[in-house]
Amino acid sequence: MANLINGKEVSASVKQRVREQTEKLISENGVTPGLAVIIVGDDPASRVYVNSKKKACAEVGFNSFEYALPAETTQEELMTLIEKLNNDPKVNGILCQLPLPKHIDENAVINAIRAEKDVDAFHPFNVGKIMIGDFAFLPCTPAGVMELIDSTGTEISGKNCVVIGRSNIVGKPMAMLLLHRSGTVTICHSKTQNLAEICANADILVAAVGRANFVTADMVKEGAVVIDVGMNRLENGKLCGDVDFEAVEKKASYITPVPGGVGPMTIAMLMQNTLTAAKMQNNIG
Ligand code: NAP
Repeated sequence: MANLINGKEVSASVKQRVREQTEKLISENGVTPGLAVIIVGDDPASRVYVNSKKKACAEVGFNSFEYALPAETTQEELMTLIEKLNNDPKVNGILCQLPLPKHIDENAVINAIRAEKDVDAFHPFNVGKIMIGDFAFLPCTPAGVMELIDSTGTEISGKNCVVIGRSNIVGKPMAMLLLHRSGTVTICHSKTQNLAEICANADILVAAVGRANFVTADMVKEGAVVIDVGMNRLENGKLCGDVDFEAVEKKASYITPVPGGVGPMTIAMLMQNTLTAAKMQNNIG
């Protein structure tokens, strides 16, 4: 039976670390990190995420600034706000909650956020830095996964690591972080052949597909570390991951639950990035 990786506990320890460093930054340098969160429209899921981010800011001692804009906000109005925040020294991190309404060009918005305030690490400049392994901002969800793997004491170097999913926000940066730690990485996607066989060879398996019960027990190697990034809403309203948890926990050595696994980590890593941004912008090492 697998050991459960407790994302709530690991995220609490990351936030504690951020809180301690923030207290030091405030007392020694008079700098309070500030995060601006922009939400356009009234998508209920986005609202939940934005509230969680504001709550996390309060927990670690940051200032948070919320900009709730109506769904009919124009591209130009949004760009004007981003420019204002880019130039506001009290704002160290800017996050625009995705998805945006259809009439707004998401890429243009991501590109408009100044790279040093891009705490989601979505800007092409920061994506490039992640690629070459010389980065200040961590891609939040993959970085959270790395913390979870590290919390198990598992050595990544030399291990077969399989990532299912190749999105820009999860799959690709996830593979990069594992590669930087000398994992032997395979990325699977919807066109992959023999996916079950490839997965069954993984010492570390990360599922970021967005399909409930996609990873079944026959796809998992005995003793593997299984990380479930998926967040799927079932018809009965229940939240579940990509992994058939009940069957897979009998084979894995470590497994994350959903909820309570990767989810809480993403926000903790966002706090870490905002702290990094505040230090960088104030030339504090
Ligand atoms: P995405 O952009 O939809 O990407 C999904 C990936 O899964 C794609 O690369 C797709 O392949 C692949 N895929 C889909 N069906 C497949 C199949 N039958 N076989 C193999 N691969 C398949 O999703 P995402 O943004 O990466 O998110 C993935 C999941 O993680 C979602 O459930 C999302 O809600 C969750 N998530 C959780 C957090 C968190 O904080 N816990 C954060 C972000 C995302 P193709 O590229 O070939 O289409």
